[in-house]
Amino acid sequence: QQEEWGKLKDEPTFSKDGEQVELAANIGTPADVEGVLNNGGEGVGLYRTEFLYMGKSELPSEDEQFEAYKSVLEQMNGKPVVVRTLDVGGDKEINYLDMPKELNPFLGFRAIRFCLENEDVFRPQLRALLRSSAYGNLKIMFPMIATLEEFRQAKGLLMEEKEALVADGVKVSDDIEVGIMVEIPSTAVTARQFAKEVDFFSIGTNDLIQYTMAADRMNEQVSYLYQPYHPAILNLVNNVIEAAHKEGKWVGMCGEMAGDPIAIPILLGLGLDEFSMSATSILPARTQIRDLSKKDLAAYKDKLLSMDTAEEVEAFIKEKTE
Ligand code: PEP
Ligand code: MG
Repeated sequence: QQEEWGKLKDEPTFSKDGEQVELAANIGTPADVEGVLNNGGEGVGLYRTEFLYMGKSELPSEDEQFEAYKSVLEQMNGKPVVVRTLDVGGDKEINYLDMPKELNPFLGFRAIRFCLENEDVFRPQLRALLRSSAYGNLKIMFPMIATLEEFRQAKGLLMEEKEALVADGVKVSDDIEVGIMVEIPSTAVTARQFAKEVDFFSIGTNDLIQYTMAADRMNEQVSYLYQPYHPAILNLVNNVIEAAHKEGKWVGMCGEMAGDPIAIPILLGLGLDEFSMSATSILPARTQIRDLSKKDLAAYKDKLLSMDTAEEVEAFIKEKTE
């Protein structure tokens, strides 16, 4: 099997019936890129920038961030790289940022909420990203977007920094796509409105499942409710994909679900464009997709979306793909 995977390393990803999708990787540091390329990654679908901020005593400087982003873009050599802006809070604590102690950190002052209120933290990251854009195919993604206003505000700051850099004669790419994570149910439900303004969506199922099922992703006592195949999740994912495609936008997924061999046929049938997963899952996923017919799977869509339980979904898809 290793041998078959090796052969597919530098191949694009096609389904049995000739439909192309992109298999990308989730990374945390520039050192992870080597593993992405060795495992046949067609891009980086999620670069979690938190690691730049964690395990130190002060904010990373703009230059330090610029070097990290540039390194990832250069190593990826023109392949797409989606960089997510700082997603602090929830399970990701950063001591020197002096974040408030909260009763419900997962529902609290985190990610884009924190960044929009702390422009002294956010703007240097945006500048570092813009400067790095001259070195590859950069896409910028905002985490934990719950309302359209948040997206507009974040994009507004990005555009301000872009104008300032250009006015100073700094080279900034003109083709940077700006998108959002869909990991809050409000955003999945109103994807139609967002789709007119964002360039792409990436569905963060790790959080989307926890918020939709109201089940803390870290709490084992409620982990039975953490159900990726629950029809509620599938309907939200489908809503995002339909809304995006209507506006000619693409949709990725960067939660754990994107690399799950049971979820992959479902997502392929729903029309997901990009699957972003841990690097070691890429070649197995490419092998699996080569044996799946997207058209056949798409025909099960209405049936899957109207099923009663996650268990029923899982049993059905296993039977159809075995
Ligand atoms: C997600 O929520 O699915 C996601 C990819 O982000 P993180 O796991 O970093 O919260
Ligand atoms: Mg998340």
